[in-house]
Amino acid sequence: MTVLSSFSVVAPNHCFRFRSSATTNTIRMSLTETPSISKIIDSHLHVWASPQEASKFPYSPGQEPNLPGHVDFLLQCMEEAGVDGALIVQPINHKFDHSYVTRMDIALLDSTLICGHLMTNEIGKAIFKRAGELNVPVGFMCMKLCTEFPSTVVLLDHLAFCKPPLNDEEGLVFSKLLNLSRFPQVYVKFSALFRVSRTKFPYLDLSPHLSQVVSSFGANHVIWGSDFPFVVPECGYKGAKEAVHLIANQIPLPSSDLEWIMGKTAAQLFQSQLSSAK
Ligand SMILES: [Zn+2]
Repeated sequence: MTVLSSFSVVAPNHCFRFRSSATTNTIRMSLTETPSISKIIDSHLHVWASPQEASKFPYSPGQEPNLPGHVDFLLQCMEEAGVDGALIVQPINHKFDHSYVTRMDIALLDSTLICGHLMTNEIGKAIFKRAGELNVPVGFMCMKLCTEFPSTVVLLDHLAFCKPPLNDEEGLVFSKLLNLSRFPQVYVKFSALFRVSRTKFPYLDLSPHLSQVVSSFGANHVIWGSDFPFVVPECGYKGAKEAVHLIANQIPLPSSDLEWIMGKTAAQLFQSQLSSAK
């Protein structure tokens, strides 16, 4: 499937972090109470050790980051942008060493290791199947596996890297993505907009895209993600959130749909894990 070929070198290790909650318990409470105002959840970002922290949490050889992505910086950005929670994806800088992402001050709710490249071999299939049994969403996709293991939730990163189509071939790829909405277990991340758009901030060429994705999948199958810290030099962390509002305004998208995209979908999707986290 061409739609996703270039991604998933990163093994997603999902965990929720809420900037103001000190304990898992508080986090669980905050999401199961069905608050009147939805929480804003960033469903795609990475953190890695600062150079100072690297003595304790070493980078994988040759994977020294060239921009800051430490937890304190993230929390500061989230605070400024008014983002309440985050779904952290294991960064390549620490390869398979999850100790930084799972350190004590990040409330770990689930740690699953999924490697996209291996998904169609026996081990990959076993992981994919097990993820379904454990109710753990998998951050990549493959149509064959969706048919074979319908109970495993699949998250498509960054609109499956479908840029606004410039020709028939690209249009076809995008329609294939929309076709995946026939699998109710498939969710689309409206994330890393700077990677998908062909224009500058606020990436308004993605309005027709978002409109079609929401029509096909439903807003309750679309989740926003920033791709912090890569987004910071692009349009700033705050800009990542603002862009979605500006894009949605152009459609225009009902505010209830926007609420789903900005946090409700993620909260619902990961609620079972939040509830079962001890
Ligand atoms: Zn990413």
